Amino acid sequence: KASEEAIMEIKSKLEDLGYKVHVSKGETHCILGLIGDTSRIDISRIEANEHVDKVLRVQSPFKLASRAFHPDDTVIQVNGVKIGGEEKVVIAGPCAVESEEQLLLIAHSVKESGAHLLRGGAFKPRTSPYSFQGLGEEGLKLLRKAKEQTHLPIVTEAMCIETIDLVAEYADVIQIGARNMQNFSLLKKAGKTNKPILLKRGLSATIEEFLMAAEYIMCEGNPNVILCERGIRTFEKYTRNTLDLSAIPVIKELSHLPIIVDPSHATGKWSIVEPMSKAAIAAGADGLIIEVHHQPELALSDGAQSLKPEKFAKLMQDLNGLMKYV
Ligand code: PEP
Ligand code: MN
Repeated sequence: KASEEAIMEIKSKLEDLGYKVHVSKGETHCILGLIGDTSRIDISRIEANEHVDKVLRVQSPFKLASRAFHPDDTVIQVNGVKIGGEEKVVIAGPCAVESEEQLLLIAHSVKESGAHLLRGGAFKPRTSPYSFQGLGEEGLKLLRKAKEQTHLPIVTEAMCIETIDLVAEYADVIQIGARNMQNFSLLKKAGKTNKPILLKRGLSATIEEFLMAAEYIMCEGNPNVILCERGIRTFEKYTRNTLDLSAIPVIKELSHLPIIVDPSHATGKWSIVEPMSKAAIAAGADGLIIEVHHQPELALSDGAQSLKPEKFAKLMQDLNGLMKYV
């Protein structure tokens, strides 16, 4: 029941923003349909108008990350390994780099079992400030050594804008952790690096927020974002998090970016890593990131969810069988 004048005023404001506006009048409501790229529009400002009842998005608020914008799957090349292509990719290694002996032993064993990339944190985001915080640059140097010996590309986390350039010197893929998924200054800085980014879903992030975080990186000029579902927080306490398997096909519909699954952080229990790895592959994930430790009971972080090398080797064999069917 807004006056003709009020409607025309809103229409012309929207036109000034660069949209074509299609007007459709009903008995009590008038619908203004915006035609054009609405990803930059601020819905809350339109909703603030007293004559506006509701603003509904037909288009997603993310653009560069959306399937509509880029219909073909994105395949990201990391030193010859293709992520998002035909073959499933497995990233494996310890939660944290602890020592040369530990890292090299695990790196050689996961390589032997068929892993494609090596993971290991040198900067660790720990809940307690008293827990092991990582070896910092020394850890990055050990990762470089492991790469020289195994030729496995390195995935390692950058925790803040102050150290991301240092991490980028050593990493083949820079990980942005769940706790940093909405650290917008870090996302922008990651967008300015020339390394692929492994972006983990926030602990309580919706899929839309997750894809908007990817958009932050992409709109700074870095198109190489690998998404990672690592479980979200729910009321269930038996597992550390709840693995949102449905996020995989949902993200495949909404986005062209590769999506991998982290069954280690999603479950927090080594015994559940194997079935969830298989489920993730069956649901269409492009790969997995799995924590492996040769002495989980002595691990400085995430021992309870780490697979022993023999268990990882067995899982890789099973996955090879499964991958033929998906
Ligand atoms: C990790 O990969 O070791 C990690 C800390 O993961 P997340 O950010 O998903 O908790
Ligand atoms: Mn971990």
